[in-house]
Amino acid sequence: MKENHKYVFVIGGVMSGVGKGIATASIGTVLQSRGYKVNLVKVDPYLNVDAGTMNPTEHGETFVLKSGLETDQDMGNYERFLGKDLPEENYLTSGMIYKRVIEKERNLEYGGKCVEAIPHIRDEIIERFENAANSNGSEISVIEIGGTVGDYQNIMFIEAARVMHARNPNNVFFILVSYLPIPDKVGEMKTKPTQNAVRQLNGYGVQPDMIIGRSSEPLDDRRKDKIAMQCNIKPEYVISAPDIDSIYDVPLNFEKDKLADIILSNFELPQVKESDLDNEHIGLTTWREFANKPHCASNKIRVAIVGKYFNTGNFVLSDVYISVIEAVKFSSYHLDTIPEFTWINAGEFESGIAKTDVLGRFDGIVVPGGFGTTGIEGIIKAIKYAREQRIPYLGLCYGMQLMVVEYARHVAGLVGANTREVDNRAEHLIIDIMPDQQELMKNKQYGGTMRLGEYPAVLKDGTIARKAYNTDIVKERHRHRYEVNPNYVKTLEEAGLVFSGRSPDGDLMEIAELPTDIHPFMVGTQFHPEFLARPLSPHPLFTEFIKSALNTSVVVN
Ligand code: GLN
Repeated sequence: MKENHKYVFVIGGVMSGVGKGIATASIGTVLQSRGYKVNLVKVDPYLNVDAGTMNPTEHGETFVLKSGLETDQDMGNYERFLGKDLPEENYLTSGMIYKRVIEKERNLEYGGKCVEAIPHIRDEIIERFENAANSNGSEISVIEIGGTVGDYQNIMFIEAARVMHARNPNNVFFILVSYLPIPDKVGEMKTKPTQNAVRQLNGYGVQPDMIIGRSSEPLDDRRKDKIAMQCNIKPEYVISAPDIDSIYDVPLNFEKDKLADIILSNFELPQVKESDLDNEHIGLTTWREFANKPHCASNKIRVAIVGKYFNTGNFVLSDVYISVIEAVKFSSYHLDTIPEFTWINAGEFESGIAKTDVLGRFDGIVVPGGFGTTGIEGIIKAIKYAREQRIPYLGLCYGMQLMVVEYARHVAGLVGANTREVDNRAEHLIIDIMPDQQELMKNKQYGGTMRLGEYPAVLKDGTIARKAYNTDIVKERHRHRYEVNPNYVKTLEEAGLVFSGRSPDGDLMEIAELPTDIHPFMVGTQFHPEFLARPLSPHPLFTEFIKSALNTSVVVN
């Protein structure tokens, strides 16, 4: 273990879904603003080996790291709040840990010992935390343990953290992110569930050093004093985290309660002045300038997200497309604009419940990534409308593939064109599966086998993509099995479609677009540019899309 590396463990109390991920990301932002290299780590206690095999309506977006590891959406927030790429060592699941321990057992690496949860699973976890700490030259790791205190699933991770603290108390700091309800009829903020969560954590041998109190309102001194007294914490170590409109204000809120100062003084670490920070560290003044933008932007645009993973029971799940939404926001803020999102379930166009005319009132249409067959004809109808009505369109992965299918069917005259994913007997398989992928599918090797992670694309001169990126070659993150069928490229090009980005060998189509004299902005990318959009460096393709949406805007501001 690196002698002086510091570990901050973030554990949830009372209930899930109260913003532990954003709290962790924001702790990263404020510590980084003091001149430290911060490492944000996410622990997901489920048995899936990675987040790639889960249905998005179950678990939200799958975020893809540069290396290609498929992870939880919190990793996306971490990269955005730190403004940097994170290595794959920073994502852990129980499945990964157990798989590795069982593999070691099968390889006789435990020398004939009885292999058990304690110490072997626990020690594997500790080793992973230390590897993550060592992987990118960081000084402080902030590790979010998924789930809530009291879950069976995350006990081993809390136990690993306890042991690390027992071994080196000065290098480990515990934060409980808890929830304080204000029941309607009572009208008063209640601290009891938090007290119980702390007791439960104490039962595991862990005493939190700090409590972040999530609630709809700020915590008053009375509540802070009560939590401090009942939970053995200094009152100033109880941080108020009320609901706020923009997640990017959370670091600024933590700053009000001096969260970074407290953690650093506990570790006896000095602070770097903001004026002495280098380029790798975002100062809070810069962050504040960014975070203020949505509060004072002068323009508005309406963006429709046409997708298929919105509905869970009676609720609409926009979490599935979180990186897309944030990417649109960053580019919009950069252009002094607030985007207003409308979620449109493509299934309604398919069944005919809704007519594509409803898309006429939007300034821009995004079709994000997706899988499978449901809703696909509805998406194709939406794309046709965007093309014919010249509404700025951005297609991401499936959104690019279906843009190419639509063009093949309705412009290139390839009636019956489709993607093999929807109809493997289609007359023209415009989007097809590559032979290596076919082999994997035959053997049911689904997990972690897509074309994943960073790949280069060479850009064509004189295109929207080339102009937006302002460079010849770009690297972007992928997550897909299917590709534009090379046998149809010539026909599609002759019909007017431009492939403005290709793999360096020229075989794989990475970006498709229409010439600007035909359509103001019709661009589709085989990769996911949204994964690289960052608050302080918005993604150039999203920025071009928003510019075009502003130029053609139907909204009277
Ligand atoms: N389903 C498509 C494929 O596998 C697109 C995937 C995506 O949109 N991420 O190629």
